[in-house]
Amino acid sequence: MSQIHILPENLANQIAAGEVVERPASVVKELLENALDAGATNISVLIEQAGLQRIRIVDNGHGISKEDLPKALQRHATSKIKTVDDLFAINSFGFRGEALPSIASVSHFTLNSRTKGADEGWEINEKGTIKPASLKKGTIVDVQDLFYNTPARRKFLKSTRVEQTHIEDAVVRLALSYPQVTVTLSFDGKQKRHLNAAQGDLLDDMLPRLNAVMGKDFSTNAVPITQTRDDMQLFGWTSLPTHNFGNSRKQYLYINNRPVKDRVLLGALKQAYHDLLAKSRYPMAVLFLEMPPHMLDVNVHPTKAEVRFKNSSAVYGFIYGAVRYVLEQHSTTVSHSTAQTAVKAFQVPPQMNFIQANQVAEQVHTFTPRTQNMTVNQAEGFSLPPVLTRKGEETEPTSEEIKHPLGAAVGQVHGTFIVAQTEDGMILVDQHAAHERLMYEKLKSQVMNNTVGTQRLLMPEVVELSDREIDVLVEREEELKKFGLEVEQFGAQAVQIRSIPQLLGDTNAKALLLDVVEDLLEMKTNTSLTDRLEDTLSTIACHGSIRANRRLSLEEMNALLRQMEQTPNSAQCNHGRPTYIELKVADIEKLFGRR
Ligand code: ADP
Ligand code: MG
Repeated sequence: MSQIHILPENLANQIAAGEVVERPASVVKELLENALDAGATNISVLIEQAGLQRIRIVDNGHGISKEDLPKALQRHATSKIKTVDDLFAINSFGFRGEALPSIASVSHFTLNSRTKGADEGWEINEKGTIKPASLKKGTIVDVQDLFYNTPARRKFLKSTRVEQTHIEDAVVRLALSYPQVTVTLSFDGKQKRHLNAAQGDLLDDMLPRLNAVMGKDFSTNAVPITQTRDDMQLFGWTSLPTHNFGNSRKQYLYINNRPVKDRVLLGALKQAYHDLLAKSRYPMAVLFLEMPPHMLDVNVHPTKAEVRFKNSSAVYGFIYGAVRYVLEQHSTTVSHSTAQTAVKAFQVPPQMNFIQANQVAEQVHTFTPRTQNMTVNQAEGFSLPPVLTRKGEETEPTSEEIKHPLGAAVGQVHGTFIVAQTEDGMILVDQHAAHERLMYEKLKSQVMNNTVGTQRLLMPEVVELSDREIDVLVEREEELKKFGLEVEQFGAQAVQIRSIPQLLGDTNAKALLLDVVEDLLEMKTNTSLTDRLEDTLSTIACHGSIRANRRLSLEEMNALLRQMEQTPNSAQCNHGRPTYIELKVADIEKLFGRR
């Protein structure tokens, strides 16, 4: 007896829906793509109960004729490609002809449509019944009770909040690549997004939409990219390292204007920031990659979120190089919002008036310190207005000196921050963070050029360690040697440190080694060699840098400023924190109400 049979059409559609319609947001994405493919310039998305009760999408695109309506709901029926050649020259979102039949098989579905010039519109439901409908030119798709007949799918869904977030993300992701289309989104009758169509020059007109989606100060804290290599082009914006985000959600990547979550692109972006950001922070970016369609295959994923490149390493190299290049060009720019926050922090708290402030100061002065050498400040925990300590002569910096981008040092506050005067403002430098960056960049270039200097310890330092710690050190011995850190096993439970990088100067070698070991243990076995190197370098650099609370002479401070100006990426430390902030005289004047 025959065992094999063809699946009924509806079941086949439900199976396809398993891939295409994972959650309400997938429906929104497919329907929005259809509306954009139909040339709509105005699209509204109405959502009820996170899409489970209703998803209704209204567009003003070219519509579907009465004759085509039944076909639109059939599997493998599309108006977008005809031959296999078209598959490799695609300029529409859709081409598989799967979305509508899949969605209709797992919901109560109606589609209303009217083409340009047609006398009336028509409606079709999931059963294929057609009747007249009244509507303007365009299409309305109404999806109700999603997954009512596939309860297993419903169970996998997350909370309303999470599903709404996915929907919003799907909407803005597409809206970012179509700034000339007006898009609105509402949840349960409340408008969530209204993105107005931009007119005119694409790059400039993108800015309002960009800021609406990425956060209102994104465009002032991001660097624009326009790079070309061979027949690839990249344009968009990527955030300054000091303007980062707690997860990777704000990374919007497009290939030929198609949103993708492609691993090659995401990986290249991540790598471009790897030594500019702490592990738990992420860059924000909107990047559009354009390339000839025949250089990629978009038909490798049911929802086309991933693509396959003919030459993925060329693509990776291009993206990495382009992002890295613009970041280095802007490496001495600190995000604007950092300075803004600083200005706010400087403002006098409103409840503290001048008389109160004087009283506090008086109390401080009448207090007799218990210890002679202890300052009032330390003894009582009062926070006094910072006192500038200037070493050397009390001379004003010359007009020549203040011409440097980071200005001329005038003093140090709290033994930790350098104050410098520039032509039109002042700079506050976190000396530890800044020096750490310098050390890191220097060490890195020495390692790359194989010119690391080592200093032999006069008395090799013996450090006791656990078996695991010794194992990882022995395993990495050669790597560490390249950095100038030489260790060798010493008996069963210890190693001895023979030399450390010369750059570090007078450093506690044991503390350094313990930190490096901890780092090595934390690294996963699959961490790439470069990541590993840079992680370790970063730890070493931290040890060699000037601590907070070290007094510096004006000469030393100026030397640090001059080095910062010459060092790539010096505006932030290896953890993505700013190394300095700048206040313009204009900002200071504002603080004092002079402007
Ligand atoms: P695909 O988009 O892969 O072609 P779909 O199942 O999403 O497959 O849609 C089937 C067809 O229905 C499309 O090829 C298109 O001709 C038509 N269609 C779907 N949605 C719309 C719409 N909003 N406006 C105009 N035509 C549409
Ligand atoms: Mg489609």
